[in-house]
Amino acid sequence: MPESLLSSAARLDEQFGSSCRRESFLFPQHQGQDVIYLCGNSLGLQPTTTRQLLNEELDTWSELAVEGHFHGRRPWFSYHEPAQQLAAPLVGALPHEVVMMNTLTANLHLLMVSFYRPTPQRFIILTEAGAFPSDRQALRSQAIHHGMDPDVAVVELSPRAGEELLRDSDILDAIAHYGPRLALVMMAGVQFRTGQIFDLQAITAAAHAVGALAGFDLAHAVGNLPLTLHEDGVDFAVWCSYKYLNSGPGSIGGAFVHDRHADSALPRFAGWWGHEPSTRFQMTGDFHPQRGAAGWQLSNVPVFSTAPFLASARLFIEVGMQNLHARAVAMNDFFRAALTSELPDVQVVTPLSRLRGCQLSLRVHTDARPVQERLLALGIVTDFRPPDIIRAAPVPLYNTFSDIARFVAALREVLA
Ligand SMILES: *Cc1c(COP(=O)(O)O)cnc(C)c1O
Repeated sequence: MPESLLSSAARLDEQFGSSCRRESFLFPQHQGQDVIYLCGNSLGLQPTTTRQLLNEELDTWSELAVEGHFHGRRPWFSYHEPAQQLAAPLVGALPHEVVMMNTLTANLHLLMVSFYRPTPQRFIILTEAGAFPSDRQALRSQAIHHGMDPDVAVVELSPRAGEELLRDSDILDAIAHYGPRLALVMMAGVQFRTGQIFDLQAITAAAHAVGALAGFDLAHAVGNLPLTLHEDGVDFAVWCSYKYLNSGPGSIGGAFVHDRHADSALPRFAGWWGHEPSTRFQMTGDFHPQRGAAGWQLSNVPVFSTAPFLASARLFIEVGMQNLHARAVAMNDFFRAALTSELPDVQVVTPLSRLRGCQLSLRVHTDARPVQERLLALGIVTDFRPPDIIRAAPVPLYNTFSDIARFVAALREVLA
């Protein structure tokens, strides 16, 4: 590996060291050393404090049992509240606009019950052809649930012929085109395959301009980019916590409902935890939703899948999303420059945008699976999307510039 690459990585590691929390995470081992983990876009690493928070809840359970609902150190009755406080700044929301509940796809369905109310005139859902399979399945099944032909109701935008990325202007033009027939625009915040960042504010404004609503799947955006959902006017959003939010496999999902819908009597699928807490235990069948996103909860809080979120979110709050993003931008720029100089034949599919996400999708022009496997054998964890894309996501909380330099050198070796 060229010395210059390593030494500039070391210099940057020094310069941006204060917003790194590498020591707060547990790394899988490879031949007695930490792996180079570039897969936080798929499953984030475990914070060192996660076990402690889980143990505290196990202790509360063993020591207080049912009394833990009201007398634990974080009472289970209101366990979603500390989660709201921590989640709100991560997505640029007011605390009552967010709630951590269920899992991503379940939340997408629940919120579509309220925010996708098709009429004979206005029934189209606009999304992208490259959307994550679970999202496409959810959207199509919602259309079917409403008695419609999903091939008609769900419009999937594709990039232009010969292009790989959706143009921002084509998204906005499509919204204007479907205008009075458009019910909902449902897009990702960050495209999972290409890493393309969509303009939430512009898409939302365009949807509102034609009388439609805008919802987003933030699976690859939350914990990755500084988000401003409230300011952007987004109607609703959903996310998972096991990718950049480091909360462990299958852990608690999140949902955002904009303040303008906080007091609305929107129809919803109801459950007792969405009910006003003061009268919840009167145990009548009436449903009075609590204000804001928490009013979409169904069940009592899954404490053991929420505790890991609290542990991880504290680290984000401690460092600050803006500081993390400054580090992410520098890492992203360094990553791109290293690829250009060391691997000019590798195509960076991820477009350069004003914001920089962690992930770069790299077209290696050969079957990506054996490339990913050989990297793994060298102690470097990435993932791939067939046929020829390696995804590598240096995460500002726990990756270093040196990780990037070593990855680029290893990829050069593997591709040689
Ligand atoms: C990871 C991911 C999901 C996963 O959905 P779950 O319901 O958490 O299993 C959904 N959508 C996108 C875009 C994702 O990246």
